[in-house]
Amino acid sequence: MTRAALVLFSAGQDSATCLAWALSRFERVETIGFDYGQRHHVELSQREPLRRALSGLSERWLAALGDDSVIDLRGYGALAESALTADRAIALEAGGLPTTFVPGRNLVFLSVAAALAYRKGIDALVGGMCETDYSGYPDCRRATLDAMERALALGLERPIRVETPLMALTKAETWRLAHALGGAALVDTIVEHSHTCYEGDREHRHPWGYGCGVCPACDLRRKGWAVWAEAGES
Ligand code: ZN
Repeated sequence: MTRAALVLFSAGQDSATCLAWALSRFERVETIGFDYGQRHHVELSQREPLRRALSGLSERWLAALGDDSVIDLRGYGALAESALTADRAIALEAGGLPTTFVPGRNLVFLSVAAALAYRKGIDALVGGMCETDYSGYPDCRRATLDAMERALALGLERPIRVETPLMALTKAETWRLAHALGGAALVDTIVEHSHTCYEGDREHRHPWGYGCGVCPACDLRRKGWAVWAEAGES
């Protein structure tokens, strides 16, 4: 088996950093994304420009980057949405999860990614799950992913790793990792081409990238950038 990885790639800051991380470690890297009926299609349309710009930063990265697969999971998205609506009162009452929580999302994504990896002889999945900033999402915790890794290995009867390089990092540390992997050129590429904003805003350009500037995703990205920039590493 070749040393190959499949990156769960949403074209956001985290998965862009994961793609650079994988390109710097694996001989062959492919990407997978999911159309689950997101409100805005910006993240789907940013995939190719971001992949092209990022891999273009290094000849080795360009040679390592393989196919991109976008999988239609709109049926799941519709189901998850209705479940969210139905459970909203209960969830809020329990005081647990943010309303943006899509039940089981990472479990579904990893199962589908593992199926593609199996077919392509890839034995590592790479995802930007992180329990530092998103502690409210139970399917982002390493404990969940350890169990998932074991379930996939048993169910496929083939070892498959779930690599999560951002698991213990803050958003500021994710910028620092990007800088360590590809210098200012990689940071600039992620700022310019990655998309995180929940509102799909690509009109307003900030030092940290495009976005409405006020949604929770923009807020997190802006704050992380500010902490990192203050540390004087940019
Ligand atoms: Zn936003």
